[in-house]
Amino acid sequence: MPRDPSVIVIGAGMSGIGLAVKLKHAGITDVTVLEKADDIGGTWRDNTYPGLKCDVPSAFYQFWFDRNPDWSHFFSHGAEIHRYFRDVVDRHRLWPHIHLGTEVTSATFSENRWRVTTADGAVREADFLVSATGVLHRPVVPDIPGRDAFTGAAFHSARWDHSIPLAGKRVGVIGTGSTGMQIVTALAGEVGELTLFQRTPQWVLPIPNWRNGRVTRRLRCSVPGATALEYRLVRAIFGIFVAALIRPGWQRRAVSAACRAYLRTVGDPELRRKLTPDYQPMCKRLVICSGFYRAVQHPDVHLAAEGIERIEPSGVATTDGRHHELDVLVFATGFDSHAYLRPVELTGPDGRTLSQEWAGGARAYRTVALPGFPNFFMLMGPHSPVGNFSLIPVAEVQADYVIAWIQRWRRGEFTAAAPTAEATDTYNAWLRAAMPDTVWTTGCDSWYLGPDGTPEVWPLSPQRHAAMLRQPHTDEFTVV
Ligand code: NAP
Repeated sequence: MPRDPSVIVIGAGMSGIGLAVKLKHAGITDVTVLEKADDIGGTWRDNTYPGLKCDVPSAFYQFWFDRNPDWSHFFSHGAEIHRYFRDVVDRHRLWPHIHLGTEVTSATFSENRWRVTTADGAVREADFLVSATGVLHRPVVPDIPGRDAFTGAAFHSARWDHSIPLAGKRVGVIGTGSTGMQIVTALAGEVGELTLFQRTPQWVLPIPNWRNGRVTRRLRCSVPGATALEYRLVRAIFGIFVAALIRPGWQRRAVSAACRAYLRTVGDPELRRKLTPDYQPMCKRLVICSGFYRAVQHPDVHLAAEGIERIEPSGVATTDGRHHELDVLVFATGFDSHAYLRPVELTGPDGRTLSQEWAGGARAYRTVALPGFPNFFMLMGPHSPVGNFSLIPVAEVQADYVIAWIQRWRRGEFTAAAPTAEATDTYNAWLRAAMPDTVWTTGCDSWYLGPDGTPEVWPLSPQRHAAMLRQPHTDEFTVV
């Protein structure tokens, strides 16, 4: 008789939803998903800024097990993606498993079970604990002098205040990552004046975003295998980006040439100079945005590239002595990419905590587990493949791996299992050795880098990652 495992999943974003569906498909029904917010959807719930799109094509940014024939665009809008995840939850009847407004604060493993405490003081128990807290979910508002002095409306891009009307207003955007560029592209010509505060220029690749007409959608529904074929095709094409990221070669040169050609469309040489990065394309996460240079050349858009000196009650002062009067200030300043599930505190059976384990930086066993923390797994954990590639197949691979361990538990093959410290060290040394070929080490600062300056991302192809997780390496685990 197989045992009946209980599983607690932290987070009802993309990866938590995907895992919960797969657990149900595998016949594991005692699944509880704890979500701190009042809705599911993670990044697609939190981000609602104007111009929000996914820069991975929708055909590939969706679950393999639930392909949507109705995507409206090649790159779909944020609200549509959020709706897709809600539809997945509906279709797979996950709502009874999801507890909204339930923030996990800590979890302790003792007597072969996880005891999970939430902010309301409740304690739940489970045989397995899985963190699905996402990569970029803790907004960073940098400590710029005078940050709180601004008397207009100010908010982070992931906390957009839709009660503030923007028409006719003087809007400032700090940050030139994917978010800042999407916002500027959407707001150019729509507000009174728009000032983009740039600390570091970014490379931009323009890929047009076409509408999927009725014929495309009908074909996807009526031709057997059409969505699977489209998924595979887009994955293969995006393989060019993967190859460009992980090793020098024609793919890197081609992406670089395309970015440089796009930059040459900026007519004013002085503006072009200010927008020209001094590092290789893709070293920072490549921005895919087809309208940005047109937007930044709009007569009502100003690029402030001199650096911010301080924020003042009525605007922003830059280091060239200028004061930029503003009504609204948007911080498109990114996220703490090293938080992972923190500030949730985990305590293993020997009393060792996650804070102690990660005091020198976040690391994992094969992106999914931690020595000293039995029956605990992570989706999108440290060194997961995250550069210009769909995160959904990565989370699906990790979910399948977790389920493979849970199935072994079901069959009574173990009660508690954690990777050994030796296997984790060996794996991390192997990862480090693979880093030098990657574009992230070519000399720029980015959210990919850990505290010691080494990339905290997967340095090989996602296929290699999938192959690594195809089945549990039981000899690398301490099993009770
Ligand atoms: P980001 O890439 O981390 O960019 C943050 C921006 O804020 C950078 O330009 C940074 O400048 C600037 N900044 C930070 N602190 C600053 C300071 N003190 N003064 C001035 N500027 C400062 O963040 P993001 O744009 O939100 O994007 C994060 C990630 O989210 C992306 O890389 C991508 O993975 C994902 N994303 C994806 C999409 C999509 O379409 N799929 C859309 C949006 C975001 P420096 O470069 O000088 O540090």
